[in-house]
Amino acid sequence: MAATPASSTPKRKVTRHRGEGQWAAGHFTPLNGNEQFKKDDDGLNVRTRIETVYAHIGFDGIDPNDLRGRMRWWGLYTQRRPGIDGGKTAILEPHELEDDYFMLRVRIDGGRLTVAQLRTIGEISQTYARGTADLTDRQNIQFHWIRIEDMPVIWQKLEAVGLSTTEACGDCPRVILGSPVAGIAADEIIDGTPALEEIQRRIVGNKDFSNLPRKFKSAISGSPLLDVVHEINDVAFVGVVHPEHGPGFDLWVGGGLSTNPRLGERLGAWVPLDEVPDVYTGVISIFRDYGYRRLRNRARLKFLLADWGTEKFRQVLEDEYLQRKLVDGPAPAEPVERWRDHVGVHRQKDGKFYVGFAPRVGRVDGSLLTKVADLAAQHGSDRLRTTAEQKMIVLDVTEEQVESLVAGLEALDLRVTPSPFRRGTMACTGIEFCKLAIVETKERGKTLIDELEARLPQFDEPLTININGCPNACARIQVADIGLKGQLVTDENGEQVEGFQVHLGGALGLEAGFGRKVRGLKVTKDGLPDYVERVLNRYLDDRQDGERFAQ
Ligand code: SF4
Repeated sequence: MAATPASSTPKRKVTRHRGEGQWAAGHFTPLNGNEQFKKDDDGLNVRTRIETVYAHIGFDGIDPNDLRGRMRWWGLYTQRRPGIDGGKTAILEPHELEDDYFMLRVRIDGGRLTVAQLRTIGEISQTYARGTADLTDRQNIQFHWIRIEDMPVIWQKLEAVGLSTTEACGDCPRVILGSPVAGIAADEIIDGTPALEEIQRRIVGNKDFSNLPRKFKSAISGSPLLDVVHEINDVAFVGVVHPEHGPGFDLWVGGGLSTNPRLGERLGAWVPLDEVPDVYTGVISIFRDYGYRRLRNRARLKFLLADWGTEKFRQVLEDEYLQRKLVDGPAPAEPVERWRDHVGVHRQKDGKFYVGFAPRVGRVDGSLLTKVADLAAQHGSDRLRTTAEQKMIVLDVTEEQVESLVAGLEALDLRVTPSPFRRGTMACTGIEFCKLAIVETKERGKTLIDELEARLPQFDEPLTININGCPNACARIQVADIGLKGQLVTDENGEQVEGFQVHLGGALGLEAGFGRKVRGLKVTKDGLPDYVERVLNRYLDDRQDGERFAQ
């Protein structure tokens, strides 16, 4: 039953970082509880126990190491018990915080969905998840209220249409972000789809890579919009044109947010399409073998990169894992526009159109998704996409059908021409379901959008407002124009209430950087619309020609 490190693991004597639990240094003795349960049994093995045991004996019979550990490898997290306020998050034990239900994450690599797949998601949502289905900022869809008893039939239904929850969470290769308009956008530099599919085939569910030090996030895009937040992934491939070799990918490693945010760095290497899977495999192998396994909060690849630097990282990748040198290459060009979500109506390279639309903060539901699937089918499309901005896209619509599709989406309150507030606001799961949360986020985000639309109808700038329910970074607060980190704050009556620490001026793209924490600037949940309105009004009054909000 014990997981053994992959046979390809280099066995060499390394004297630095002896205390970090690196396999490549010969340190296979687990240094914390997570490493121990991963060594005891591979996370992927829990699927059989769920199907043959837990689905029959129910929640109370689940082994705690499976319940709060290995089940993540199949996209399952226990969810927060309703009614526990944020002040108790840090003081209650996990079993006191959790409910008998699960969040289930469906991984949607590249955000690629067919009509049949979306209908299945809608059906599962309505039958087994009390109608819940949120669009995440990593192209996934998440259900809530899932019972362990229903998992066998849910997997059956998902897998019948080619969907999966394999390694949707856990210390393993998570969903691979891909440009949602790969292969169809008229302005595309290169289509990364063949590489994404080959990586899925080689890596996902492969036990050589299912015990990593921590989660491993990846992204591939050949879009000039840089539409997969490549700067904050462990590995990312970004479309560029090499002056001699033509279109290919610029390699980035070591990005990640959370409580120690770090932007990914270029290794200065150009990777042709057919070599992307090998390079991906090399980078994830470095993480498995050399990644730090002592402290959970120092385990992401970014910490290894910070210690090694890009030069050593590239050299280890080339010498030990690829056995060849990579070609030097150029950096990506400045993105052609600030919005990266593909919202609106756009012409495809084949002359048809794609239509991107915005719900509020990714909140949709099973019935709505079924209606979207029906609308797409009625307008001749069999392909939809999720984006890394909590939005969706219908592909392959003829010019004659566009107007009717847009009208149908707008009638469902899915805006094809949304306000900047609806377009640019994201929110994480928050206290409604998340055990780590301190504040509510989704309803707060929806209300904020409505308030700002009513108060500032003249505001016309690209703007991102990202709302997190705790100090983690699931909704990317550090790289938003206005980042709101959920915490308890003191109101004017001296009471502790839900509120936010404000971060201003973060960005992705070539101007990428983290927002400044505004010292002492905390707002209560009720004061949030007034605060954002004030900040935006000041900007509107003072802005110079060409100045965007974050400058
Ligand atoms: Fe939960 Fe915090 Fe992540 Fe929000 S940011 S989903 S509250 S862990």
